[in-house]
Amino acid sequence: MKLLGVPYDANSSYMRGAAQAPPRIREALFSDSSNLWTEDGVDLGAPGLLLDCNDVELPSKITPAFAAIENAVYEAIDPAHPLICLGGDHSITYPILRGFHRHFRDLTILLFDAHPDLADEFQGSRFSHACQFARIMEDGLARRLVQVGIRTMSSHQREQAERFGVEVISMRNLGRFAEVKFEGPLFISFDIDVLDPAFAPGVSHYEPGGMSVRKTINMLQSLRVPVVGADIVEYNPTRDRDLQTGMVAAKVLKEIAAAMLRRGKPPAAGWV
Ligand code: MN
Ligand code: MN
Repeated sequence: MKLLGVPYDANSSYMRGAAQAPPRIREALFSDSSNLWTEDGVDLGAPGLLLDCNDVELPSKITPAFAAIENAVYEAIDPAHPLICLGGDHSITYPILRGFHRHFRDLTILLFDAHPDLADEFQGSRFSHACQFARIMEDGLARRLVQVGIRTMSSHQREQAERFGVEVISMRNLGRFAEVKFEGPLFISFDIDVLDPAFAPGVSHYEPGGMSVRKTINMLQSLRVPVVGADIVEYNPTRDRDLQTGMVAAKVLKEIAAAMLRRGKPPAAGWV
């Protein structure tokens, strides 16, 4: 597993702060208050299992920043060590996927989010954190996009979802997730605001009526396809309390890592 920090939040529409997340997620992950074992019995602290590539150095302007993210991701991708990127606002998923597309031509994306992020433009920008999945689908960077936990759909974004053939599993209809058949390779994009603000207050956009941490973990544990990459985005430490949301981000990170290490297989006997 490789970790790559992407401390960029210039495309956040409502408030900044997510750029401060990568060091706080590392602090939570390595905190003595927990350990580095996944729930299916892998010690991520074992030598050589978790490689930290540190944070990408980023200029403030969008075009050079996105180019730097794409190149850093492209260079960090290694078949032996799946890559987890730590945001940052959610706009970074577009350059991250551009980097992945140079290695993987038939990715499926599984998005956890309160928001579909499919707007053609938002507040005058086509690179807002409300737009990145429109750019990703227009560029053909994924062959399939499955969105889970959506609860802010607008008529414009519904049209966009139909235009791009996006499979939307809304919060009202979460049970449909169990019927989705995934084929690898899979990229997981995890926007922390998919969770109910009661579980994860450290986000810029409070969207009540969301998922529990437990429910998302069980979904991650149900995956039986190779997971080749992921991002964890929209954690905003300036809105957090006592690293509560940082610990949630670290927990999600550990279970995404577990899904990557299973490589499409069920967990080892005795760890179910
Ligand atoms: Mn999002
Ligand atoms: Mn969101």
